[in-house]
Amino acid sequence: MRDYPTGAVVAGRRRTGDPPTRSDGRPAPAPVNVPARRGATGRRALVLLFWVGLVLAVVPWWLATPAGSLGDTGAIALAAGRIVGLVAGYVMLVQILLMSRLRLLDRLAGEELMTRWHRDIGGALIVAVLAHMALILVGYGSLDGYNPLVEARVLIVDVPDMLEAFLSAGILTAVGLFSVRAVRNALPYELWRWLHMSTYLVLYLSFGHQFSLGQQLFKPGLVRTGWIAAYIGVVVILAYGRVIAPLIFNLRYGLRVADVVAEGPDTISIYLTGRHLDRLKLLGGQWFRFRFLARGLWWQSHPFSVSAAKNGRWLRLTVKVVGAYTRELRDLDSGARVWAIGPRGSFTAAQRTAPRSLLIAGGIGITPIRAMLEELPPGATLIYRASTPADVVLQREIDWLARARDLDVWYVIGARTDPGPRQVMSPNGLRQLVPDLERRDVWLCGPAGFVEAAQKTVRRAGVRRKKIHLAAFEL
Ligand SMILES: Cc1cc2nc3c(=O)[nH]c(=O)nc-3n(C[C@H](O)[C@H](O)[C@H](O)COP(=O)(O)OP(=O)(O)OC[C@H]3O[C@@H](n4cnc5c(N)ncnc54)[C@H](O)[C@@H]3O)c2cc1C
Repeated sequence: MRDYPTGAVVAGRRRTGDPPTRSDGRPAPAPVNVPARRGATGRRALVLLFWVGLVLAVVPWWLATPAGSLGDTGAIALAAGRIVGLVAGYVMLVQILLMSRLRLLDRLAGEELMTRWHRDIGGALIVAVLAHMALILVGYGSLDGYNPLVEARVLIVDVPDMLEAFLSAGILTAVGLFSVRAVRNALPYELWRWLHMSTYLVLYLSFGHQFSLGQQLFKPGLVRTGWIAAYIGVVVILAYGRVIAPLIFNLRYGLRVADVVAEGPDTISIYLTGRHLDRLKLLGGQWFRFRFLARGLWWQSHPFSVSAAKNGRWLRLTVKVVGAYTRELRDLDSGARVWAIGPRGSFTAAQRTAPRSLLIAGGIGITPIRAMLEELPPGATLIYRASTPADVVLQREIDWLARARDLDVWYVIGARTDPGPRQVMSPNGLRQLVPDLERRDVWLCGPAGFVEAAQKTVRRAGVRRKKIHLAAFEL
């Protein structure tokens, strides 16, 4: 790789690489079949289901609140507080469902979209909970002749489950604040994750007050039974997605570390073996949350993409050393057991909308793209951005795939501000390299900042949003 001048674009169409072999001489996977396309029907069905559920959640309020009953400000505030409360309760359930890791949801909507929904809805949920609280306090306060703060104290002391309800609102607001990107980036990931998990506590703490004070849910009947059934349903799905399904997966496949191979000065590949790997439903571009059951590592799980398509014999992840955990992975011993949760993610060839693709990888973002190259229809173009030649990994395999699957591969090496990369990563530069860009699917993977910037450039180059597929290495 010494012949790559920093700051220059290396000419594409490299078709001369050797077939990849592992360090122990075993052959690398042969290109496999292109997976069937998944359309947008599943996603549309989920969106429809969301709106139907929301309507069902507020219908009881509508029926129990005739227009004539809204007399003074207090009554209006109370009625508004109640409907907002029902919406908040429903959205809370949807939020938990989105993160339940149910594979069916992943298949219908795709992990990336669900994470985006989870983030967008999260903000709305906090606003709804705070509005619900404020409106209820104003409403009851005006009926009782107290100001909202005194009313809050009265409710906490006199009404069962209200202390828990206030606590849950406080926890939810804190979770929201910790999820603001700047705050989140300042926290150690594991701490942030545990704080985020306290949302389950919110589900538990907020449950009771809906029945002790919620007018629509207070009386036994169809509405109350339906609401409780929805909660039980979500908890069962959560237990299945988060506990039972991973248990079944790990008992069935029994993954273990087979080999750790250096790919570069700060990049390693970890090969895993297991039972029945030919039956594993896995697409190139998907990822797992891996927990290596070895000393010093077992207490953390980290997400990594598979960097080769399914081959029935082994899985491979390729890891860049960026911090304490990834540094430890270099010393993993063969035979170590691995607990994996997945496969997850919809950044796969099944989501394509066009026969040809442009793939842009930033740094270690090449890993899922490398696996997808085996499954996308031939004729794709890959732009591989790396800061230095040493950051280019899996190059021999990529060159081999270029030959086997008729790919154009462009290695674009240098800093963001160097003239070569700046030219290529501009709307004009992309159009010069890929004249039919607008008709292609565009796949972007890498660190969040890279993906965001590349997405803007691709949009400016005229590619429609629905043709752009994103995988930022950020949860
Ligand atoms: C879906 C997905 C797929 C990924 N695939 C790959 C891959 O194929 N190859 C690769 O090298 N990297 C991949 N990453 C990134 C990888 O997970 C992080 O680089 C790694 O967890 C860093 O851990 P660290 O403790 O060594 O570094 P740190 O310095 O502690 O962390 C660096 C950054 O990584 C993120 N991070 C840290 N711990 C976790 C965690 N437990 N879960 C999620 N994010 C975390 C945080 O944003 C943090 O700021 C992927 C990330 C995601 C979300």
